[in-house]
Amino acid sequence: MRRNTYLDYNASAPAHPEVAEAVADALSRVGNPSSVHGFGRAARRTVEHAREAVAALVGANPAQVVFTSGGTEANNQALAGANGSVIVSSVEHDSVLAVVPDARRIAVDGAGIVRMDDVRLALDEGPALLSVMLANNETGVIQPVAEVAALAHAAGALVHCDVVQAAGKMPIDMVALGIDFLTLSAHKLAGPQGVGALVAAEGVEIAPFIRGGGQERRRRSGTENTPGIAGFGVAARIAVDHLAAKSDRLAQLQRRLEQGVVEIAPNHVIHGATAPRLPNTSCIGLAGIKSEVQVMALDLAGVAVGAGAACSSGKVTPSHVLTAMGLDSTAAASAIRVSLGWGSTADDVDHFLSAYRHMLEGVAAAA
Ligand code: PLP
Repeated sequence: MRRNTYLDYNASAPAHPEVAEAVADALSRVGNPSSVHGFGRAARRTVEHAREAVAALVGANPAQVVFTSGGTEANNQALAGANGSVIVSSVEHDSVLAVVPDARRIAVDGAGIVRMDDVRLALDEGPALLSVMLANNETGVIQPVAEVAALAHAAGALVHCDVVQAAGKMPIDMVALGIDFLTLSAHKLAGPQGVGALVAAEGVEIAPFIRGGGQERRRRSGTENTPGIAGFGVAARIAVDHLAAKSDRLAQLQRRLEQGVVEIAPNHVIHGATAPRLPNTSCIGLAGIKSEVQVMALDLAGVAVGAGAACSSGKVTPSHVLTAMGLDSTAAASAIRVSLGWGSTADDVDHFLSAYRHMLEGVAAAA
């Protein structure tokens, strides 16, 4: 029987069985969290219980958590609410970049880390908000957010941080990091798709983005996605409880994967390898073979990985992240992203390595 291996956790992680159970349970019950009768109050309890877990994941106060339809909406809300100009890092997710297309973009170095000299220069322009992600979705590179936030605050700017990919893979304390607005997405941490959160620091207001019935303390209208939020809460709780063990296990698998790739393709490059990185993400560049060709060859061998701009599989434009890191357009269009998660095993890594070897042998034979 053909083996199927899923190594695209950064695109969407499989829901944890306990998450699926919580979603099914919430779906089986009726009630609008805004209703005052018993059914409504029970739904409200489900939402508030989840809010506590999501707040604990990032060291926040539950009252500061606003549930949204996902990371994209939370990023849109954070940036649209800025009271003045915005500056962003050049490696942000499209759900940041597209909201502020004219924003000044902070340069990154060859390893994918924001350049502090450029941060300082950009802050001289007196922006109201600076947006820098904690970990990149394509490379896993971790930004020095605390350092950037200290500079931003000294210059009078607020700090937005997209921690969508970092959550569940590294500890996050938004107070210690100096984050004013933080974006989360449930489906990247084994929760359901279509639910996320925008979290504000104590004393920082979140401007309404979607208006209507005034839910979420008037900060996000629309009946709460109670089943999705219930699943998000369970995913957040599991992420907190198992973080250390999970990251150690992922780091071991990542080493196995990257050492295996060295033996198979000595001319490969792991983008961002010299920077601090998430323990689950390997962005592997292979000169001369387009990302989508690699993704398709691996898919035929039963291994699912991501290519190029991470969250939108099928996209064939060169990665803006790799381009910002100084790669030319050919190199930036020749990388795949292998991302591991809670269900990944050494067998999955070995399956990837054998498919990768097979793919290269096929290319060599065709040359
Ligand atoms: N931010 C980052 C870093 C992401 O990787 C993604 C993935 O799609 C998003 C935001 C968007 O999140 P969502 O899929 O919940 O809209």
